This record gives sequence, C-alpha cells and structure tokens, in this order.
Amino acid sequence: MSPLLDVQHLSVAFGEGPRAVTAVSDVSFQIAPGETLGLVGESGSGKSVTAFSVLRLLQPPGRVVGGQIFFEGRNLLALPESEMRKVRGARISLIFQEPMTALNPVMRVGDQIAEALSVHGIASGAEARAKAAELLDAVKIPEAVKRARDYPHQLSGGMRQRVMIAIALACRPPLIIADEPTTALDVTIQAQVLDLMRELKSRYNLALLLITHDFGVIAEMADRVAVMYKGQLVEQGGVRQILRQPEHDYTRALLAAVPGMKGY
Ligand code: ADP
Ligand code: MG
Repeated sequence: MSPLLDVQHLSVAFGEGPRAVTAVSDVSFQIAPGETLGLVGESGSGKSVTAFSVLRLLQPPGRVVGGQIFFEGRNLLALPESEMRKVRGARISLIFQEPMTALNPVMRVGDQIAEALSVHGIASGAEARAKAAELLDAVKIPEAVKRARDYPHQLSGGMRQRVMIAIALACRPPLIIADEPTTALDVTIQAQVLDLMRELKSRYNLALLLITHDFGVIAEMADRVAVMYKGQLVEQGGVRQILRQPEHDYTRALLAAVPGMKGY
C-alpha cells in the first residue's frame, strides 16, 4: 500500500548563516492509512518541529531547508498556501498538548466545532450545530447538547482535550497529528483519553502521528515507532520489535525511564 504520509530527508533550521541551528536533520518516515506511528524523544529533540513542518506551520526563523513531504501523493512543501489551507484541518488535523491555548476562550465549544465544519464547507447553521453535538457525543462528553453551550473554561482539562479531539475529527481527516496529547493531563484522565483515541482510530480508520516523550504511551498506542534524538531519527521499527530489542542506547534509556516497561 502506498503511504498516506511520506516524509523524505526532512531538515529544518532556525536562523540563517553560520549561526543557524539545525533542529531536524535528514528525517524520513512513512505512515500507512490507518496506522499509528509513535514519534518519541526527549524534550527538544525536534518532534514538534517535525509536526509543524508537515502542516507548514513553522514560524520564522524556522524553515525547511531540505527534503520533501508527500501526503496523499502530493508534495505539501510545493503546494500553494490556498491549497495547504484545505489540507489543514480537513485532511490532516492537529491536536496539541494544551487545549486551552488552542481553543477560543470566548466561543462556546459547540460553535467552535460547528465553525470547523463550516470553514471546510461540510455543514453550516443548524446542521453544523447538530453535527457538533454528535461529535461531542462521539468523544464521550456526557450531555453533549448541553455541554456544547459551555465555554472552554467551564470544562475540565480532560473534557477540553475531548473537545479538541472532536474538532480534529470534524472533517473526518485520514491523518491526525497528536503532539503530546495527554502530557498535561492526570494519569487517570490520560488513560481515558488514550482509550478514546484508540477507539476513534479504529472506528474512523484514522492514521495517527502520535508524538510523545513517554514510551509507555507508545507501547499502548502505536504500531510502529520512530525514535528521535537531537534532531535525527536514530531508530525506527515495529513497536514490539523495538521494545524487545532496542538497538540504540538512547532508546534503551527512554525505555528505562518508564516504570514497569520491562517484560514486553
Ligand atoms: P520537542 O521534541 O520537544 O517537540 P522541538 O521540536 O520543539 O522539540 O524543538 C527542537 C529544537 O528546535 C529545539 O531544541 C531548538 O533547538 C529548536 N527550536 C524550536 N523552536 C525554536 C524557535 N522558536 N527558535 C529557535 N530554535 C527553536
Ligand atoms: Mg514538542
């Protein structure tokens, strides 16, 4: 099967000239339709920069200095911005670590979902509002119709992340990029949100690029894993394979950091 996302030799630098810092260096990976790839590495290893490059959301002075990014057969780096806008949200959506910064604080959550639907021409007006409530129900927010009228601050962190997931799902994208989606949540809530993501993934046949520093999350969620260290991929392969036989010292160190990880 041809990959849904095919990142080839991606390199990203911040700044120019001799003082430029290379944040991502010659990174290549693929994601097949419906597959979950875990991108794991410590803070500062280049995971978010990789994700932002795929969506072309890098802010200057960050810029892609090499490589190609194919999605559904098109080179995203060569698309006009108007085409890229149709990809973002509709074909690839992004879930962040901290939903409070991604949600609009002065807009009811149901309206934010309805807006995602209308921006991409999927539904508008009463139909969009009804679909918004359906989506809140799909992410298991109780009393969805009532909660749709809440503002983000009226919801708990876990519920806000569910709203973010509902927005990400709104256009039924084939690929979701989740950047540390549960890092800000309590352990119990984290497990619930991961369960939800797993269920939605199989229900909607979503591919997922799951970014985390936590190998425990990878072990639970991912089909394959790519290990990032100082801007480079040092190792990638099937999750079971890498859990059993990590090749790189850095991978072993990440595994050792997770309690109860031995015995996989
Ligand atoms: P993480 O793996 O924690 O998501 P990032 O992708 O955010 O790491 O960052 C990777 C590296 O990119 C950082 O260590 C830093 O060197 C560089 N970087 C990221 N954002 C900026 C920025 N705004 N300005 C300069 N350098 C940056
Ligand atoms: Mg990050």
